[in-house]
Amino acid sequence: MKTHAQHWCPECDQGWVERVSIAPMHQKGWLCAECEAFWPFASAKSIGSKPFVQFGVWAKEQGGDVVVER
Ligand SMILES: [Zn+2]
Repeated sequence: MKTHAQHWCPECDQGWVERVSIAPMHQKGWLCAECEAFWPFASAKSIGSKPFVQFGVWAKEQGGDVVVER
């Protein structure tokens, strides 16, 4: 059963943006399953209204050793 709130991706218009927590730094964010657009903000209101980063780029900036927890 899905308990996460979902939001349609405004960037690629092809997938859902899911709430995720990134370990080990416990960064809350929103990640598109299709295009990997990532909003590193806790609030869902950031989707489409704040700048996103490609998740791979963001992960590299964190040192690369990150785990996505859905
Ligand atoms: Zn997308």
